[in-house]
Amino acid sequence: MTNTVVSPVLEVGDLHVAYGKVEALHGVSLAVGGGQIVTVIGPNGAGKSTMLNAIAGVMPNNGSMRGTLRLLGQDTADVAIETRVARGMCLVPEKRELFASMTVEDNLLLGSYRRYQAGERAYADQMAVVYDLFPRLQQRRKQQAGSLSGGERQMLALGRALMAKPQLLMLDEPSLGLAPLIAKEIFHIIVGLRQTGVAILLVEQNARAALQVADYAYVLETGDIALQGPAAELANNPKVIDTYLGLAKKSH
Ligand code: ATP
Repeated sequence: MTNTVVSPVLEVGDLHVAYGKVEALHGVSLAVGGGQIVTVIGPNGAGKSTMLNAIAGVMPNNGSMRGTLRLLGQDTADVAIETRVARGMCLVPEKRELFASMTVEDNLLLGSYRRYQAGERAYADQMAVVYDLFPRLQQRRKQQAGSLSGGERQMLALGRALMAKPQLLMLDEPSLGLAPLIAKEIFHIIVGLRQTGVAILLVEQNARAALQVADYAYVLETGDIALQGPAAELANNPKVIDTYLGLAKKSH
């Protein structure tokens, strides 16, 4: 089975990634369509972050990759990070990487920097969109990012990514370290983002929540896609239930 989308925003084909001589991904293929939430779930060390980093072009020095990567039909495997960003890719990394001593608003403004450089001055409109999605960020716009709660930081990381008006939003474990209720709020917002038409590639260890919000899902195990299918189908797959949705993992 494959994720059949009419005009995919992202197409990854036979992606291999190695750190030195050790291969971490052994030929991963996936697709994400506009307005679609695609999730990649899997245990620790399966290669989820490696996959996102390879797509975003942020590989460590000892990393190498081969395979095909197309963004909106354009070959993107060998282009620099800036070009990937300019073409509409945006990665919200697990560590959120905010500027702690800057205000919420200045962090958001930095998210639109590339568009500003390209001569666009309408960032205020996008800021209004982001504040609409995250009223809490608006209330705290003059507050230093470093003093935000964990959930608010994740909102700011998401909001900053949206300032770039991405075509493809890649989220690395957005619920990591958040209390269940806050994580629920974040997933609710992610569902809302789908309506904007952005393609969302969501990497999560919280399989239960990810399968609830996603349209299509891939299970990554030790560098290979072990299972894939519509998220609702995978959520009923006995193997997935056994391995990833056991009662012990229930948090929502
Ligand atoms: P987690 O959920 O714990 O973040 P993950 O599924 O995102 O796990 P990765 O972080 O992508 O998994 O790691 C996949 C494999 O690649 C692991 O065996 C890891 O040790 C290895 N790895 C990751 N980064 C590097 C690196 N910079 N150098 C060498 N090996 C690495």
